[in-house]
Order: sequence, then structure tokens, then C-alpha cells
Amino acid sequence: MESPSGKLIIFTAPSGAGKTTIVRYLLQKFDQLAFSVSATSRAQRPGEKHGKDYYFLSVEEFRQAIDREAFAEWEEVYQGQYYGTLKQEIQRLWAEGKHILFDIDVQGALHLKKVYGTQALVVFVQPPSLEALEIRLRGRQTEDEASFKKRIAKAAEELSFAPSCDRVLINDDLETTLKQAEEMILSFIK
Ligand code: ADP
Ligand code: 5GP
Repeated sequence: MESPSGKLIIFTAPSGAGKTTIVRYLLQKFDQLAFSVSATSRAQRPGEKHGKDYYFLSVEEFRQAIDREAFAEWEEVYQGQYYGTLKQEIQRLWAEGKHILFDIDVQGALHLKKVYGTQALVVFVQPPSLEALEIRLRGRQTEDEASFKKRIAKAAEELSFAPSCDRVLINDDLETTLKQAEEMILSFIK
């Protein structure tokens, strides 16, 4: 029998724009939502848990999963760092009767949109400016200088994809953003 299918709500943005903050808030607000845990080959950050924040794989394991066609989408988001959504993860959460929240890069988001059409909503989280993005990313204190530079270098290109997404959510004042995100979700899953 086919698993029941829910909706896909996909948050995308340059690193540091606020996706994780928004997604965490929505998960504690709505019981019907669950987070799609991605696979990645990047190093685990302090405090991150395997199976909760990511499935941490070696590059070799990641490539084997690509060859098995285990991914609904995957991208080499930064050179040598792979990220992807496992088909099994989507099936697992739909089998639990949930709508799925994603925090993925813009190429991956548009790929899922192509596959799932109106079942998917792509929300682009836009920082008020590139300067604000740099301040947030530095303030998070998770990246070394090389990783920080890679992320900022990619941000300008990523920002140009905002018009290709279903909605743009400007994350300036956080409280306002969270309220707007809540409204977007409610009108999409009702
Ligand atoms: P992402 O998941 O998109 O990389 P995060 O959610 O980790 O981004 O946010 C990056 C940093 O910016 C975090 O330290 C977070 O607390 C902070 N932040 C998020 N939204 C805002 C906001 N509206 N104003 C100021 N700081 C914010
Ligand atoms: P981070 O290393 O900061 O956790 O994530 C870096 C980037 O990879 C972010 O833009 C994040 O949204 C993206 N990302 C995380 N998981 C996936 C995924 O499964 N697929 C794709 N395409 N991008 C992902």
C-alpha cells in the first residue's frame, strides 16, 4: 500500500539568514509538522546530534548513497561538502502523518518543488542586507574563517534566487518574522 503523503514546507536561504531559528520555532508550535533530517558529509558541530540535526556520513558513504539512488535530492553545497534529503526520510515522516519542514539550500529546494509541485511550498528567508547576514553568521560563532568566507561568497548568488521561490520572508525583526511564518504555514496546511 502507498504511504499517505502530506505537504512539504521548504525553508531556504543563505547560511545565517535564520532558517534554523524559524524552523525550530515552527516545530514547537505545530504538532502536525516534523523536520526532515538531511544527510551531510560536513563535520559535526559541537552540540549537534546524529539523527536529530543531520545524519553525518563520510564522503564515501554519501557517494554510495547517491549510487543507490537513496536521495530525493542532493547537492554539493560547498566544495567537498555534500548535503541531501533521503527518500526514506520523507516516507518515514509521511507514514507518521506529518507535514514535513525542510531547511535546505536553494538548488535542492527548487529540485523538490519540481518533483512535488503544489504539494510543496518554498519559502525563501531573506536577510535585511548582506551586512546583517555577515553579522549574524559571525555572531553564531560556528564557522572558522575559511568556512565563513565560503558561506558569504555564496550568499550573493543565493539571494538572486528569491524570485524563483513561492514566498519571500524577510527576516529583519525576528518576532514579526515568526508570526508571518506561522501564518504562511497555517494557510498552506489548512
Ligand atoms: P541559518 O539556519 O539560516 O543558517 P540561523 O537560524 O542559525 O541561520 O541564524 C543565524 C544567527 O542569526 C543565529 O545566531 C540566530 O540566533 C541569529 N538570528 C536569526 N534571526 C535573527 C533576527 N531576525 N535578528 C537577529 N539575529 C537573528
Ligand atoms: P549547514 O552546514 O549550515 O548546516 O548548512 C549549509 C547549507 O546546506 C544550508 O543552506 C542548508 O540549508 C543546506 N542543506 C542542509 N541540508 C540539505 C539537504 O538535504 N539538501 C540540500 N540541497 N541542502 C541542504
